[in-house]
Amino acid sequence: MGAPEAFTTTGMVGQFINGQIVPGAGGRRQPVFNPATGAVAREVLLAEAADVHAAVAAARAAFPKWADTPPIRRARVLFKFLELMNQHRDTLAAMITAEHGKVFTDALGEVTRGIEIIEFACGIPQLLKGDYTEQVSTAIDNWTLRQPLGVVAGVTPFNFPCMVPLWMFPVAIAAGNTFVLKPSPLDPSPSLLMADLLKQAGLPDGVFNVVQGDKVAVDALLEHPDVKAISFVGSTPVAHHIAQEAARHGKRVQALGGAKNHMVVMPDADLDQVVDALMGSAFGSAGERCMAISVGVLVGDVADKIVPRLVDRTKVLKVKNGMEPDAEMGPIVTAAARERISGMIDSGVRQGARLLVDGRGHAVPGHAQGFWLGGTLFDQVTPDMRIYQEEIFGPVLSCVRAPDFAAALDLVNAHAYGNGVACFTRDGHIAREFSRRVQVGMVGINVPIPVPMAWHGFGGWKASLFGDMHAYGEEGVRFYTKQKSIMQRWPESTPKGAEFVMPTAK
Ligand code: NAD
Repeated sequence: MGAPEAFTTTGMVGQFINGQIVPGAGGRRQPVFNPATGAVAREVLLAEAADVHAAVAAARAAFPKWADTPPIRRARVLFKFLELMNQHRDTLAAMITAEHGKVFTDALGEVTRGIEIIEFACGIPQLLKGDYTEQVSTAIDNWTLRQPLGVVAGVTPFNFPCMVPLWMFPVAIAAGNTFVLKPSPLDPSPSLLMADLLKQAGLPDGVFNVVQGDKVAVDALLEHPDVKAISFVGSTPVAHHIAQEAARHGKRVQALGGAKNHMVVMPDADLDQVVDALMGSAFGSAGERCMAISVGVLVGDVADKIVPRLVDRTKVLKVKNGMEPDAEMGPIVTAAARERISGMIDSGVRQGARLLVDGRGHAVPGHAQGFWLGGTLFDQVTPDMRIYQEEIFGPVLSCVRAPDFAAALDLVNAHAYGNGVACFTRDGHIAREFSRRVQVGMVGINVPIPVPMAWHGFGGWKASLFGDMHAYGEEGVRFYTKQKSIMQRWPESTPKGAEFVMPTAK
């Protein structure tokens, strides 16, 4: 394979409403940076409430016909979309690298994990099959079926501009809903390419719409009476706000929030594997993953054995423009995010953690204006420190020492977040106890980033998710449909008279 081709289109990123790209009602716009160069690559036009109203109106108008389309025909549109997405994998990945900064191969991985949700959604005829009981009472049959909700909306974060929208809309539209997506304004381009591919796949206009923008657009979605459900993925304070506001407006809501993922390393673990796993999961995508490991809980004598190795490896991380084939870590998404992460490193130092590798001030030759930060490693981090308590969302790994398994498990369970967690061990009993007792939604045993596959569903616990249902998988199908129970009797022609007693099986 030759070097991947960079995504370089300039200009404006607009809204996609009723099958057309339109600028939107207002004049507000925001620069979209290439984080590796620090240059403004294009601008995104921020939607006003009027744009949201237009998108919801288009989605509402398209809903009756789309909901009436047989599931197998809806699935055929998704099969075509799947084919087109596979054809455009490289373009999508280059777009992600150009606006987010993550390395191209990692961006390809993101696209692939998103495509797997489309593959899952192609099975919608099977997933929508209901239950049936013949003869629940004499001459009465009872069955349940699931019907779409109507117009549903998705609000997504910057860190997976392709995959996280794909957690939502393939399942939602396969189930017969129409959709309004509000992506992050930091990396808005993949949403418009996906909208175009859906149109090419034969999706009727209005079934999928995109409004770019910020809180203005999100508030308009939250308040709109025709939006029946909101899926949100982003930081915990915003997730909490969305969950409360959506509930106040009578909407179904799933709001996935932030994380602080621990990796517990037992003394019997394969330490070569552990070092590789910590490096990849802490510094991959510059730590800007909700499933990144940001805390290593090193049990017994593990710290003394692996911390020197982590120091050596962190110092030689290949931090480069993500389009360079050997890059291991790209830049931080924005200058503001880099400042925030540097501030967290400052606080770790102030509170007494041992800073072993300092990524502040990292420079990349030829890219002086890029938003760079090197890998950062702390040891002797304790639970009272901000760097332990708060989500950093950057390339910072904190090592905490624990005397034994019980102390390590207590530490994880006491944390406010509960998105992902890992335990590295060779002891089956420890692995089993850990999986059973840990208060976290997604658990990896010798797997550092246990992102569930498309048919298993994704979601954390505690401050990492507000709402009842996880994203995608069968939970996703349930979220985007409502159950109806039908009881039916075809009486004989002889009337039996009215019944005034609660019906029971006869
Ligand atoms: P963010 O919360 O700043 O933004 C998420 C979305 O909400 C964006 O579309 C943004 O435009 C919008 N938004 C921001 N502030 C808002 C407000 N006050 N009112 C209404 N809408 C608002 O998150 P981000 O910085 O884009 O993404 C990083 C965060 O997302 C991290 O905390 C990360 O852990 C989290 N995340 C979680 C998961 C998960 O599955 N739990 C997955 C990916 C990212």
